[in-house]
Amino acid sequence: MSFLARVEGELRLDGMPLADVAREFGTPCYVYSRSAIESAYREFDQGLGGVDHLVCYAVKASSNLAILDALARLGAGFDIVSGGELARVLAAGGSAERVIFSGVGKSEAEMRTALAAGIKCFNVESEPELERLDALAGAMGLSAPVSLRINPDVDARTHPYISTGLAGNKFGIPHGRALEAYARAARLSNLRITGIGCHIGSQILETAPLDEALERVMELVAALAGEGIALAHVDLGGGLGIRYRDEVAPDIRGYCERLARRFAGSGFQLLLEPGRAIVGSAGVLLTRVEYLKLDKAKRFAVVDASMSELLRPALYESWHDIVPVEPSRAAPATYDVVGPVCESADVLGVDRSLAIREGDLLAILSAGAYGMAMASNYNSRPRPPEVIIDRGRALQVRARETIASLHVLERRLPDA
Ligand SMILES: *Cc1c(COP(=O)(O)O)cnc(C)c1O
Repeated sequence: MSFLARVEGELRLDGMPLADVAREFGTPCYVYSRSAIESAYREFDQGLGGVDHLVCYAVKASSNLAILDALARLGAGFDIVSGGELARVLAAGGSAERVIFSGVGKSEAEMRTALAAGIKCFNVESEPELERLDALAGAMGLSAPVSLRINPDVDARTHPYISTGLAGNKFGIPHGRALEAYARAARLSNLRITGIGCHIGSQILETAPLDEALERVMELVAALAGEGIALAHVDLGGGLGIRYRDEVAPDIRGYCERLARRFAGSGFQLLLEPGRAIVGSAGVLLTRVEYLKLDKAKRFAVVDASMSELLRPALYESWHDIVPVEPSRAAPATYDVVGPVCESADVLGVDRSLAIREGDLLAILSAGAYGMAMASNYNSRPRPPEVIIDRGRALQVRARETIASLHVLERRLPDA
């Protein structure tokens, strides 16, 4: 089930010719398929259909209001990591009761806002955070719902920068400290213990580490029950990977159905926090070839997108397929596809065989997750627009930033 297809040589997303999108909105430009996002969400939601569950989309993967809106309309929950993300979810029509708040550095202001909004729970990542949350909730006359994020010390077997479940990572409460941390939470009178969770990493391709983490968490659930601490939910985090190159992505539906069987009759609500698996394959970044530089030891295709639009290749040396949007009569040759930013790391693809000429359009695939969300203004580049293909229409859901907007918050020095 691919939403990307070639019709008479021209690349279409959800039936919409991407060349038309580039003509209307310019390049670089992010384009997403609403149906692709919705159908990925439904794989989770329907796979877990046999058990009480909430699929909490990890907002940080791609946080445009239109994407959050589409998911909120399907009944999704949201996993947030900042006050800014909470504001986005609410602005997009999401409801606070379906929001869970992760992250190792929640500020007092963020906690107060989330308490006042009435979120489903705080995924607490340390014991000092328990103390802070208890004090703030007490001052507000509220009881804070908490779930502890346990670091199960499981190797997700993914890139070290996106591995979060090992003892050496900054995330979560160490497995060995979990029972003490729960006992401490239980003594704090303004906290209400609701669950337990983990999140071991991202772009996970085998489900074995996820299963291992689940069993580690369930051991704790049993031990906690023995101590009289009953939980309402178990949160297994996100992290399921997608195909970027030739990986075999895990079967989401099958994984969820297995979980549903495991939890059937358990009385627990099951939570997942997928980000990449929902939006990653649903988006592309359109870019135009500015120059072909053929006088170096390597051949370079300099395009108008860069690491400031798509950081993943520079940050993790990650692979994205790069394909022409329209057929070309040019002869194929091998290029490094690079952007205009003044960094040698500004490479979008190495040694790509492409039949291209200057002015041709390219699509960088699988760019829906951690693409626009990580875009920056480095080199004073306005961030690109975002367009969503929705029932045959191309809707611009974020305008291209203007150059003037880039320094609107800045001031020159006073004269004297
Ligand atoms: C980033 C993150 C996710 C989502 O990860 P994906 O790999 O995009 O599914 C889920 N939960 C937490 C706590 C995260 O930090």
